[in-house]
Amino acid sequence: MAMILDGKALAAELRADITARVSALREAGRRAPGLAVVLLGDDPASAVYVGSKVKQTEAAGMHSVAHVLPGSTTESELLQLVAQLNADPFVDGILVQLPLPKGIDSLRVIEAIDPAKDVDGFHPVNVGRLSIGLPALVPCTPRGCVMLAKRARADLTGLHAVIVGRSNIVGKPMAQLLLAENCTVTIAHSRTRDLPALCREADILVAAIGRPRALGKEHVKPGAIVIDVGINRVPKADGGSRLVGDVDYDAVVGVAGAITPVPGGVGPMTIACLLDNTVTAYRRRGG
Ligand code: NDP
Repeated sequence: MAMILDGKALAAELRADITARVSALREAGRRAPGLAVVLLGDDPASAVYVGSKVKQTEAAGMHSVAHVLPGSTTESELLQLVAQLNADPFVDGILVQLPLPKGIDSLRVIEAIDPAKDVDGFHPVNVGRLSIGLPALVPCTPRGCVMLAKRARADLTGLHAVIVGRSNIVGKPMAQLLLAENCTVTIAHSRTRDLPALCREADILVAAIGRPRALGKEHVKPGAIVIDVGINRVPKADGGSRLVGDVDYDAVVGVAGAITPVPGGVGPMTIACLLDNTVTAYRRRGG
């Protein structure tokens, strides 16, 4: 049976460490790091994510600002708010919850965020800095994935990592981070030929596809580290629904050397890394 990479426990450790650092700042009479989250519209999943971000920011003793705006907000109103948050000295991190309603150009909004406050790590300046090995604010989900993989094996040097998914928010930054860990990295996607054979070459297999249980036993080399980023809601026999990953956990748990469960794997790490990025932004801004 695979080692279970418990993201809930690791995220709790990370949050405890952040809380201690924030409390030390306050005791030294310094201001607390501040995170502003912006939500447009009433997408229920986004509202849940934003609610958890606010709750965990407050629990860590940080300054938390939430702007919940109607879906009818225009792009120029949103850009105005971003400019206001860029100028706010008590805000170190700005997160605009994606996806944005139709009619708003997400890239224009991301580019409007001060790169020094871009705690999601999606601004082209941070993307570029990460790719050339300069200090950057790094996307939270891939950062959490690397931390989990390192729980299975502290040194990832020389391992072959196959990442299935090439999105800007997960697949591509994941590749950069694993390269920085000295892995040999392959990125696969929907046009990849013979995906099972390629995946079976992976010492680290990262699934960031968005298709429930798309990867099964036939994709996994015995002993591989399997990181499942997918969050998919599927119907249950009793009429309710439940979350499953992009990996068929029950089939793979007997083959892999280590695996992240869904829920309780990568998901909890994302918000913990967001808080950590906010403290990093605070420090780099001289807070
Ligand atoms: P995207 O839809 O942006 O990207 C999906 C990628 O998977 C694409 O590159 C696509 O290829 C590839 N793909 C789709 N179908 C196949 C297939 N059958 N075989 C091989 N590759 C395929 O998704 P995201 O990267 O945004 O998210 C991926 C998953 O991770 C989702 O389930 C999402 O909910 C989850 N997620 C979880 C987070 C967390 O905190 N745990 C945070 C962010 C995302 P192509 O480019 O060719 O279309």
